[in-house]
Formats: sequence, C-alpha cells, structure tokens
Amino acid sequence: MRLPAFMQPRILKQAVQAVFSPAFTTRFPSETFEPQDAFRGRPRFNSDGCIGCGACSQVCPPKCIEVIDDLDSTPPKRVLIQHLDACIVCGQCERYCPTQEGIRMTREWDFAGFEPGDFEERIEKELVMCEICGDLLAPADQLYWLAERLGPVSFANPTLAMFSGQRLGYVQQGVRNSSVTTLRSDRMAIQCPKCKRQTAGAA
Ligand code: SF4
Ligand code: SF4
Repeated sequence: MRLPAFMQPRILKQAVQAVFSPAFTTRFPSETFEPQDAFRGRPRFNSDGCIGCGACSQVCPPKCIEVIDDLDSTPPKRVLIQHLDACIVCGQCERYCPTQEGIRMTREWDFAGFEPGDFEERIEKELVMCEICGDLLAPADQLYWLAERLGPVSFANPTLAMFSGQRLGYVQQGVRNSSVTTLRSDRMAIQCPKCKRQTAGAA
C-alpha cells in the first residue's frame, strides 16, 4: 500500500530538517530588505543632470513619461512627469538618456503609496523660443549642454553662439532686423531650424 505523502521517509526527513533550519525567507517588514546591487527599481529624475530633451519619453514603452510644454508661463517651461503607476521598470529611459544622468534606475522596490501624487515625479525646464518666429526652439539646458559638448566649434552655429553669449553676458539678444521680412542679416539670432533655413536663403 502506498503511504500518504507526509508519511513517506523522504518527506518526513525534509520536514524535520526544515524545523531546525534557519528561515529561507526575509524578515520584512520587521527588518529592512536590501535588494542586490544589480536590482532595477524605481526610476528617478535628476534635475541637475536632465536637459529636458524628452528622449526618455519617446523610448518609454508604456508612455509613462509625459512631456508638457507650457508656453503661456513666464518664462515658458517644459514639465516632465514620470507616472510610476504605469512604469514597467524596463530601464530604457536611463539607457537612452543622452546625458546618462537625467534619469537613473534606483534600487527602490517598495512602490506603495496612498495618493496619486505618491506615484508621480516631475521636473521643470525653462524653454528657449525662436527670436524670429517665436516658436519653441529647445530647453535652455539642452542648448547649454550642446554648446558645452561642442566647445569652440559651437560658435560656428549662430544660435548656440548667441545663446552662449547671453549666458556669458556679452550679448543681450540676437541681431534681428525691424521689418517683418526675414533677411540674411537675421542669421545672427537664436532661431529654430525653419527660420534658419529661411535666413540662409534670404537676400
Ligand atoms: S535628459 Fe534624460 S531624463 Fe532628461 S528629458 Fe532627456 S532623456 Fe529624459
Ligand atoms: S523604466 Fe521603462 S517604463 Fe519606466 S519610465 Fe523608464 S522607460 Fe518608462
């Protein structure tokens, strides 16, 4: 006759061993749980390392990083909002962040919260507008980051040269003719790619 499973010698031996062995599970919550170093937890923005480019939003599979351009505020600003409740902790945002410092995967694993704000993280970046048409050009930190990376070569680009000049205080604003017609002389202004093409082809 076949014995019930709990009476089989092998099972009984394992049961006795288990009684006198230390617990295999962690003692959370009475003891803080520390995940391994390679653990991929909650992504967190780093406002100092972020240039506001929005690349993380474009590569995020569940689209949980929202980019809102508020052009009516003074100065205009870009708001980046990360919605943790939709995050799948894949790490694509960190991987494709051009500065590699704007958003980082932390080892935080306890995502519990009590209100919607607990699942949101947001940062704001000032926006620069085209001096010719007034359209959105880019976040100021992105232009500054570009100019720094290019070094002296950035002065070959009028927009970056004028922008750096404003930051360093030797330029107040770009050169812009007073008529509505765009002229070639408007090249030395902070301008969007569309206006740059127009001023390059103007008389
Ligand atoms: S710098 Fe990085 S974190 Fe900031 S918006 Fe760009 S990709 Fe996202
Ligand atoms: S970890 Fe993945 S899902 Fe979460 S914010 Fe980054 S890209 Fe989006």
